[in-house]
Amino acid sequence: MQVEIITIGNEVLSGRTLDTNFAFLARALEEVSVPVVWHTTVGDVGERIGEALRRALTRADGVVMTGGLGPTPDDITRKAVAAALGRRLQLDDDVLARIRDRAKRSGRKLPASVESQALLPRGATAWPNPLGTAPGLLITQDEKPVILLPGVPQEMEALAVEFVIPYFRERSGLAVESFTLRTAGAFESQLHERIGKLPQRWPGAALAYLPSYFGVDLRVTVAGADPAPVHEVAMRAHEQLEARVRPVIYAEGARTMEEVVGDLLVARGWRIAVAESCTGGLMARRLTDIDGSSRYFERGYVTYSNASKVALLGVRPVDLDGHGAVSAPVAEQMARGAREQAGVEVGAGITGVAGPTGGSDEKPVGTVFIAVAAPDGAAVRTYRFMGTRRAIRERAAQTALDLVRRTLQGLPLDPALDG
Ligand code: ATP
Repeated sequence: MQVEIITIGNEVLSGRTLDTNFAFLARALEEVSVPVVWHTTVGDVGERIGEALRRALTRADGVVMTGGLGPTPDDITRKAVAAALGRRLQLDDDVLARIRDRAKRSGRKLPASVESQALLPRGATAWPNPLGTAPGLLITQDEKPVILLPGVPQEMEALAVEFVIPYFRERSGLAVESFTLRTAGAFESQLHERIGKLPQRWPGAALAYLPSYFGVDLRVTVAGADPAPVHEVAMRAHEQLEARVRPVIYAEGARTMEEVVGDLLVARGWRIAVAESCTGGLMARRLTDIDGSSRYFERGYVTYSNASKVALLGVRPVDLDGHGAVSAPVAEQMARGAREQAGVEVGAGITGVAGPTGGSDEKPVGTVFIAVAAPDGAAVRTYRFMGTRRAIRERAAQTALDLVRRTLQGLPLDPALDG
């Protein structure tokens, strides 16, 4: 079964709103092995919505649409879809009752126009929206499902998880299993070289390389008619893939590097302080994104100027003069200084050139020194990150967290894929 996704809205078409609804749905459908073969975006124009839907029905086996289900005059999806499918809009009493009940419980007086959301194309099934008034709608047209979801991402996602994905899973009749290994410190091309044709040994499986600032996620999805062989292939794929890339795996599934580091600190009963220059507090922010991080995060220093590195962290002026603020000795003294000043077990220091200006022949944009200080000493590493200022900062913070992780796990600090 092949699906087309249609996202609706002038704000999406103009590029002002990033089409995260498409990204969410495409990923979720991939997880149940339902291929998305087309993606269309149209503005809030009834005729174009109708045209997009009619065209989608000629080339796909099912259509998922998001946006324009609200009560305001620019929300015309229901009307346009009804017209395109040759169905009348009818008042649905159950939906109307739910809208009124929701209004009553919220204690707010909702405008009468909200009740227009109970007007559904004839024959539509309504899926109740746990977070809003516009229900998800399922219409079957010539045996093909046409699914309408609200545009607000949280509402769309809630309906997708509760109804849309289970609907497609059941309809496809396939058993599906998937897993993700998260890697940091290796390029996609290096992983590719190491993994090679391994996936060909896994019948019914697909391996996706998903690169981001945080590294490359390796996502394997296995689908097949019977659950038992699917499970067997998924287990084997997991074991073989892990064996190939073990030195660069930091987590599985959706776990983040900061969660892993936090758990390792808790397990040891250790605390951390970080000193950041070019990342401007990004590492501290990520560590403190985690609920309960006060158990192990002691403090962060954003020491952008030389003076602050000296005053707050005890970096030696002679090293700042001799080696420059972006240098291995300064990174190391930042890490040691943070650790000592805060009186904790682990300190981290980051200093680099985030660009786009400020690079030199010796230290081009992207040069970053990262140090970790722990009870048995400090280590420092030099990196050359590529990309925009944002990319360099994100990569530096991720790599610093990874160095802390490796230190806490007693692993080699430099990930080596081969061998
Ligand atoms: P509402 O009840 O708010 O009118 P709706 O179903 O009519 O909901 P829209 O009006 O199309 O949805 O969109 C509501 C908001 O959801 C938009 O302002 C936009 O911020 C966001 N949104 C819409 N479509 C997308 C999309 N494809 N990706 C990400 N966000 C989106």
